Amino acid sequence: MADKLDFMREELAAAQAEKRYINIRTMDSPAGGWMVVDGKKVLNLCTNNYLGLANHPEIKAAAKQAVDEWGVGPAAVRTIAGTQRLHIACEGRLAAFKRVEAALLVQSGFCANQAAIPPLVGRDRATGQQDVIFSDRLNHASIIDGARLSGAKIIVYEHCDAADLEAKIEEHLPNYRRGLMVTDGVFSMDGDVAPLDELYEVAARHGVMTMVDDAHGEGVLGQGRGIVAHFGLEGQFDVEIGTLSKAFGVMGGVIAGSSLVVDYIRQKARPNLFSSALTPADTAACMAAVDHVERHPELVEKLWENAEYFKAGIQALGIDTGHTETPIVPVMLGNVKLAKAFSAKLFEYGVFAMALGFPTVPEGAARIRVMNTAAHTRDDLDQGLAIFERVARELGVI
Ligand SMILES: *Cc1c(COP(=O)(O)O)cnc(C)c1O
Repeated sequence: MADKLDFMREELAAAQAEKRYINIRTMDSPAGGWMVVDGKKVLNLCTNNYLGLANHPEIKAAAKQAVDEWGVGPAAVRTIAGTQRLHIACEGRLAAFKRVEAALLVQSGFCANQAAIPPLVGRDRATGQQDVIFSDRLNHASIIDGARLSGAKIIVYEHCDAADLEAKIEEHLPNYRRGLMVTDGVFSMDGDVAPLDELYEVAARHGVMTMVDDAHGEGVLGQGRGIVAHFGLEGQFDVEIGTLSKAFGVMGGVIAGSSLVVDYIRQKARPNLFSSALTPADTAACMAAVDHVERHPELVEKLWENAEYFKAGIQALGIDTGHTETPIVPVMLGNVKLAKAFSAKLFEYGVFAMALGFPTVPEGAARIRVMNTAAHTRDDLDQGLAIFERVARELGVI
């Protein structure tokens, strides 16, 4: 008889054979402008550490102090055994930062979408009536999973296309109980920005709820306050999702909005009802990171300067950088095998940057994705660009 776990052996062997198997590199140092990866010191153009806060002394000090004051864990689910005052303080801090009435802190950005979407839309158990989600074609996996979990009908509209959103709303909304429009703020594969003002206008005009996931916009757009501030739409979106794991450098997710919406989600979100809160160290570090971003607008400026400099350097080599509008710089190579070979050679010469291919990005649009940060100096970037040039010549890209 075949072993019941043979399907796993077969799948892993197939993934190895087709070079889909994910080999995870081991970091031997904290995330920074430079990092020790698999025992080798490399220029880090790979992590989402936009403002260089992941290893910041002030933020580490806040975490250490919280361990001394509050211990290492929350010891229970908040709705069952109460919530530490620290978590409430952090939520107030996050709401103020986002200029909204209230915020709910959850375990991660991924978790925030699982938490927020099912309470908003789904299927009425008694009547069987279904709701509808209008979702950008390129939304993040955590939005897609949260949408699926809700049981609502998912209607995909074309990427960043407010006219298509409107057409889809007009076609489908009448067949459902209520609707939710959801979009990434910054799309992390291309670095492009959702036309939030247009999407908002369409959704609001049709009475559809609005939700934006700003994971790659916080600390980057709107002087660091994120995409909603960038468009001057503070307090307008029904739900703003955020993560503390990217520009803020820590861990955690946030669901922000009006007191009504946040109170409602707090009552219903399963990750809040059935999973313990963030640790005191994380929570205090998150607050310290938000303080730091507010007090240091020059970090956001440096991030953008670095990004512009790096992007111009790649373009000067005659390599396409796609249609990025943010510090994410896709170095477009086209062919997956080429992108993987490029990434491997970069690493050999001392640059850590990730190759992305199908199905993460469309077929024929493979690339090296460079994540710029404020942690890099001009000299770091010059070294990085010289290595990109060397690899591009060796592989016949230029
Ligand atoms: C990275 C990302 C997340 C996940 O955030 P974590 O805090 O790492 O779980 C969620 N949504 C979007 C759009 C992201 O880019």
